[in-house]
Amino acid sequence: MHELSDIERVGVVGAGTMGHGIAQVAATAGYDVAMRDVERAYVDRGLDAIEESLDRLAGKGRLEEEPDAIRARVTGTTDLGDLADVDLVIEAVIEELDVKREVFADLDATVADGVVLATNTSTLSITTIASATERASDVVGLHFMNPVPVMDGVEVVVGERTDEAVVSFAHAFAEDLDKETWEADDKPGFVTNRILMPWINEGIRAYDEGVASKTDIDRGMTLGTNVPMGPLELADHIGLDVVLDASETLHEELGDRYTPAYLLKRKVAAGDLGKKTGRGFYEYD
Ligand code: NAD
Repeated sequence: MHELSDIERVGVVGAGTMGHGIAQVAATAGYDVAMRDVERAYVDRGLDAIEESLDRLAGKGRLEEEPDAIRARVTGTTDLGDLADVDLVIEAVIEELDVKREVFADLDATVADGVVLATNTSTLSITTIASATERASDVVGLHFMNPVPVMDGVEVVVGERTDEAVVSFAHAFAEDLDKETWEADDKPGFVTNRILMPWINEGIRAYDEGVASKTDIDRGMTLGTNVPMGPLELADHIGLDVVLDASETLHEELGDRYTPAYLLKRKVAAGDLGKKTGRGFYEYD
């Protein structure tokens, strides 16, 4: 199962922001997809989000097929057993090590030997996740960017035991989804989040310490440094809980320069998680 030609059916675990995006791009590339979440309501929300996104892309003339035909390749389930016959799994559940390790142990017992188990983790150790399985050489990081259908890049992350053929396969699969890849070693935050998270936290601290209004912080960074989104708006898009989990992992592994901003913790405690709850640093309909 280390050749692209072996892959027909892809399992995605987690139907949230990233899971449904990954399911969508895999279906768009022609794969059958089984997407699993823990509750039917989360599965349905993911399926609805795929439908909306495909309709939007079709409206812009960006799809080569009818959206319904693509959507029909994705099935949703709450039963991990429905992933028993997949040829590849991509995990995108919440960013908590214990939860991911449990999911990987269950997957190891559910899918056939030789099936690659990929994780979309932002910051957690691929090696530690892989050690929950009996197939560490078949575990790799496939770190998609948000929003998945829009962003061109995927970070391939290589664990201590990841087989070279699995690394090559990970690049080939991402490229087949029309993405470009780069590779990182299994070190906290890999390339992207190691550099992005301190930038976002410093933006939050600057806002909390009254350096400027939130819109001026975001305008200062977009207009002043030519990035498409400032730190506060980007944090809302990522999800403040996801930013906090990632920041805490980096803090634990790399020390004080990665301390999460106080206001970030307070927003997450209040349940204001950003775009996905309708309110973070900004408000959304
Ligand atoms: P999210 O909160 O939107 O979705 C997570 C989903 O996982 C939820 O629907 C939850 O019900 C589900 N889940 C929890 N336990 C599960 C289990 N045992 N089985 C199946 N589903 C389960 O989070 P997200 O933003 O989609 O993040 C998912 C992963 O992707 C995390 O590891 C995160 O760090 C990573 N990631 C996120 C972003 C981003 O911008 N949001 C970018 C890159 C990577």
